[in-house]
Amino acid sequence: MNPSTPDASIDRVVAEIEKMGSKAHLSRGQFRTVIGAVGEEGTLDQNHLASLDGVEKVVPIMKPYKLASREFHEDDSIVEIGGGNVPKVKVGGKHAMCISGPCAVENEQMLYKIARHVRDGGATVLRGGVFKPRTSPYSFQGLGLEALKWMRACGDELGMPICVEVMDTRQVADMEPYVDCFQIGARNMQNFDLLREVGKTRRAVLLKRGLAATVKDWLLSAEYVLSQGNRSVILCERGIKTFEDSIRYTMDISSIPVAAAWSHLPMIVDPSHAAGKRDFVGALALAGMAAGAHGVIVEVHYNPAEAQCDGPQALLPATFKTLMGQLKAIAAVTGKQFAEVGELASV
Ligand code: PEP
Ligand code: MN
Repeated sequence: MNPSTPDASIDRVVAEIEKMGSKAHLSRGQFRTVIGAVGEEGTLDQNHLASLDGVEKVVPIMKPYKLASREFHEDDSIVEIGGGNVPKVKVGGKHAMCISGPCAVENEQMLYKIARHVRDGGATVLRGGVFKPRTSPYSFQGLGLEALKWMRACGDELGMPICVEVMDTRQVADMEPYVDCFQIGARNMQNFDLLREVGKTRRAVLLKRGLAATVKDWLLSAEYVLSQGNRSVILCERGIKTFEDSIRYTMDISSIPVAAAWSHLPMIVDPSHAAGKRDFVGALALAGMAAGAHGVIVEVHYNPAEAQCDGPQALLPATFKTLMGQLKAIAAVTGKQFAEVGELASV
């Protein structure tokens, strides 16, 4: 739309798009409003749209992902996690964010203990799995909804929004009242029904990249969420399968500038799952930030030897704190900043 087009003209264009059977998605930038028209190809009359009041131009988006593309939304998107009883944490643009906590919630006590450690270290969002996607059906599968309630209470007490993995469409409605951010695991990146289901909620969605997914596949998965009207998608590179077997997965550093060029969505890295071993976690986290990521998600445990899941990659609390200091320094170099815990709590 032309800069400073009145709302009435914008509403009219939205109505016309919907009359043609497409869905209108508004993107209000600093200077202009872009109206995305998403629907089946061939049903939109471009000439008619171009003739409407306030329309500057009608541009077909060639990329298969539309709402996720920079063509639709030129500026970096800023996504908020939290609100209500907990502060809102921003990620995207200049805002860097650290999500941390245990891989899985093992009991109430360990959760509170680790949550205090990671908050003290500088994390502003708490993670903890309650439904675990394990390679073997005989491994610990998570403690389910009871553990989710502990997560909620713990997040509320410490002033941290919570990020929890959802594995199945049937869990979405049960989890929605408790979570601030749904995590979609790497193995579920192309579970399209699940993507649509979390897309219908208005919770943030942390979308891990699949183990064998291209950046394009990944952005198309983000598109499933966005197409349902949920604009709060955060991408997460967590390592992919390559021929290299010296490390658990290969963190694809190149995907960070590529995704940033193609998409406006914020992106963080998960060095824990990529590395699989704690000794390598710090280097990968720093590399991810240096390449332009908007933050990290890191697993921490005070007693990794007894962890029921992913112990070998869990950082000790003190190591995590040191790493946060280094990440803050790298963020400054790339023009980003991690919010301070105290500063958020007072908002
Ligand atoms: C996790 O975050 O604990 C997890 C299982 O991650 P991923 O889906 O990336 O393997
Ligand atoms: Mn894990």
